[in-house]
Amino acid sequence: MSRTDILIIGSGVAGLSVAIKMAEQRQDINITVLSKTLESETNTSWAQGGIAAVWNLEKDDHQKHIEDTLVAGDGLCDPEIVRFVIEEGPTRVKELIEWGARFDKEDDGRFDLGMEGGHSENRILHYKDITGKEIQRTLSAKAKSYNNIKVLEHLYAVNLITQHHLGRNLTRLSNDIECYGAYVLNKETNEIETLLAKATVMCTGGSGQVYLNTTNPLIATGDGIAMVYRAKGRLANMEFVQFHPTALFTTTNENPDFLISEAVRGFGGILKTPGGEEFMQKYDERLSLAPRDIVARAIDNEMKVSGEEHMCLDCRHLDQQEFLEHFPNIYEKCKSLGIDPFVDMIPVVPACHYICGGIKVDAYGQSSIKHLYAAGECTCTGLHGANRLASNSLLEGLVFGDRIAQSVLKEINHLKWNEDIPDWDAEGTSEPNELVLLHQSWKELKSIMSYYVGIVRSDIRLKMALNRLHLLFLEVEELYNNSKISPQLCELRNLITIAYLITRGAQMRKESRGLHFTIDHPNQFDYLETTLM
Ligand SMILES: Cc1cc2nc3c(=O)[nH]c(=O)nc-3n(C[C@H](O)[C@H](O)[C@H](O)COP(=O)(O)OP(=O)(O)OC[C@H]3O[C@@H](n4cnc5c(N)ncnc54)[C@H](O)[C@@H]3O)c2cc1C
Repeated sequence: MSRTDILIIGSGVAGLSVAIKMAEQRQDINITVLSKTLESETNTSWAQGGIAAVWNLEKDDHQKHIEDTLVAGDGLCDPEIVRFVIEEGPTRVKELIEWGARFDKEDDGRFDLGMEGGHSENRILHYKDITGKEIQRTLSAKAKSYNNIKVLEHLYAVNLITQHHLGRNLTRLSNDIECYGAYVLNKETNEIETLLAKATVMCTGGSGQVYLNTTNPLIATGDGIAMVYRAKGRLANMEFVQFHPTALFTTTNENPDFLISEAVRGFGGILKTPGGEEFMQKYDERLSLAPRDIVARAIDNEMKVSGEEHMCLDCRHLDQQEFLEHFPNIYEKCKSLGIDPFVDMIPVVPACHYICGGIKVDAYGQSSIKHLYAAGECTCTGLHGANRLASNSLLEGLVFGDRIAQSVLKEINHLKWNEDIPDWDAEGTSEPNELVLLHQSWKELKSIMSYYVGIVRSDIRLKMALNRLHLLFLEVEELYNNSKISPQLCELRNLITIAYLITRGAQMRKESRGLHFTIDHPNQFDYLETTLM
């Protein structure tokens, strides 16, 4: 059993922001950050386009960014949350710059602000097409400069510890659930350790690995959301899954799919059929720069109608030197596959990219479970509503990281460890000897979600998905109860929970809104969140 004042599960933009902002103010508390693989293996590291913040006050203002976010969110954003994230955002980005983050500049020294779909002004700060890597590098270096932040790699959080582990029967109606830390699988020793914390912050990122095509790295298995669901915490809006319209199409089933950033369309890239015809005029007057959900549905429809395996992004008319300066990484990736963006159109398909729903938190990241906070992609803060505006998620991680630090530090002196927590009970379990079953179930799960709960949904498809998910759930629970657990088994189990939550949320929402589009309920009716019990 070990003890830490603050346990942060996740080392991406959200987790490291919380840690740094706490350590800045208190060097006398110990802060433990967990990564289930390497510290830098995060969705954050993969972000390409950039971070949205109002910067050029001659042309832009907070109100415009707020309006763009609300429009994208399609009636489901929390206006107060949107307001403060956008107003506080530039200050958080300035801090990031002070800590050493580089963003591209124009010749006159001003930031080169990019444009992305759904934004009414150029306001995306970026570093070439590897902004996320730059942010991860900056935050990791800053975190290292504090002696009281310990980043531990290869530690896999399995479950949150609550009164359930003291023998109490908790339900989703219990309003006094408390979190005492987490059970954590040490991947080196294969033992489950008890990690007690006075306050725990969930920053486990996204869930993209629940679909066949995804831009999310392998770590994005929805662990934090599933852990909070098992601990009977409140979640919301899980049906709103953002599919990025332009992942690079390959014939080799790469996982993850490589992203062709929206910034390429902002830069002038045009969507066309493989035959070279433009098609976006049929769907939206903003053409290739329409919001992601519209573009993803348009591409999906064009592929279904024509039977083509992909659509294309035409960059052949763009200035080659500028393209190379802005998108060196994208250019290299295309070239490595024999595609020359100046000669060939880039083949693209939609891929699961971001989940807007998750752990429901308040304006200071407090979840429905006491002493449990959450930030980043695993949360539902109210910023994104039914659809996330491009480049708003890194911003959300920074702003909520700061707010959680403020809030936790106010109460930390009054918090104690719960010393009665029992060790993990592995009695009656044996070494798993059927790993092939996990592999098969994982493939089945991804297929169910991609074919039945994808970009365009229907009542019958959702029902069929739930039937199949139920079978998978029973099989995997049996494995879980009888085997010594492994990260692979836990991730599969968590992804089945995520799949269930997305599908149930989609079934409950009898309307089409934002990222949730169903042919059986094409109109909009209510403005409520879906809360899953
Ligand atoms: C290809 C791509 C491009 C993107 N581009 C942009 C962009 O341009 N702008 C933008 O704003 N957003 C972008 N996004 C989205 C954005 O990157 C993410 O939403 C954001 O980085 C999430 O940050 P996070 O801190 O919540 O999670 P992550 O950065 O994903 O970090 C998750 C952390 O949790 C840890 N973890 C997970 N489960 C466990 C467990 N069980 N035990 C221990 N540790 C665990 C992981 O090891 C990791 O350290 C992009 C995403 C992708 C995939």
